[in-house]
Amino acid sequence: MKKKAFVVLLIACLFTISTSHVWAWGVWAHNHINKGAVLALPKEMGMFFYNHSDFITEESTVPDIRKYTMGDKTEGRKHYINLEQFNYTSRTMMPKNLHDTEIKYGKDSLDKWGILPWVIQDMMAKLTDAFRNKKKTEILLIAADLGHYIADAHMPLHTTVNHDGKLTGQPGMHAFWESQLPELFGKNYNLYTGDAIYLKDVEQTTWNMIDSSFYLVRPLLYTESKMRKDNPEDKQYVMDANGKPAKNKYGQPIHAFEYAHVYHELLNGMVEKQMRTAIKLTADYWYTAWVNAGKPDLTDMDPDYTTERNKPFYKQDMKTWQKGKVKGCKSDKEF
Ligand SMILES: [Zn+2]
Repeated sequence: MKKKAFVVLLIACLFTISTSHVWAWGVWAHNHINKGAVLALPKEMGMFFYNHSDFITEESTVPDIRKYTMGDKTEGRKHYINLEQFNYTSRTMMPKNLHDTEIKYGKDSLDKWGILPWVIQDMMAKLTDAFRNKKKTEILLIAADLGHYIADAHMPLHTTVNHDGKLTGQPGMHAFWESQLPELFGKNYNLYTGDAIYLKDVEQTTWNMIDSSFYLVRPLLYTESKMRKDNPEDKQYVMDANGKPAKNKYGQPIHAFEYAHVYHELLNGMVEKQMRTAIKLTADYWYTAWVNAGKPDLTDMDPDYTTERNKPFYKQDMKTWQKGKVKGCKSDKEF
């Protein structure tokens, strides 16, 4: 589809689409992104975060649990931004904070259009405060949540109204890209990022990640739409006993392995790169919050025996991490 026609189709459908979003990155990816970010921290922070890496890894999916399982109505809009609905052209047109955004666009609109970039910046301020006040539980909880939202911002379909491919005749794309592909091929990814760095401009970085993700929407969808035309349904999906596409426990269609493999190859490392960048930026945001809080000493927040017990495991995980692998996530399979 030509770019202009594609955009026109999206705009035309703005007011007719459902605003319900399917799963953010799958459990496998969220777990690995938060755990990877722990390993990417410099040593002044790394041991403290490693002491709590099980919590940070598990907590990586809690924002989705708040949204889906616990039915928290305030949660949904935090996970995405439908840029087309803002008539978005560049970040300079966007208000600085959520308060100003609500004044400009109205709460009802934002409940449908999403507020992800402002949530990331808001969480960043809260994390900085938690570090400044050395509130251990708040640091861990907010850091883990922030990792979730940064990960969501790296899922291209979290930046568009066409979040599940329905507007282009590709339903099920969301879970296919973010859950089934990483579950099938993620073990071969190289996720190593090097150490976290200080971010001079968090607002700019946040909008850059949104822009980069949005830029990938078209290749992500277009690549699959071409494949779809060349493959009958029974080549696209695993078929059930009734000759219909089989579904996973969340009602998402299960794509055939060979189809998934070819699509993954054609994406040329897109999923891997987005996961790696999500890990890197999660670590960068945590590190930047800690620096901005005045680099508080974190070593006295845990009992010595906890740190001593975990040290050899941290060393082992760091060795594996330097080879690009994130160990120790036991994630529930979705596909
Ligand atoms: Zn999410």
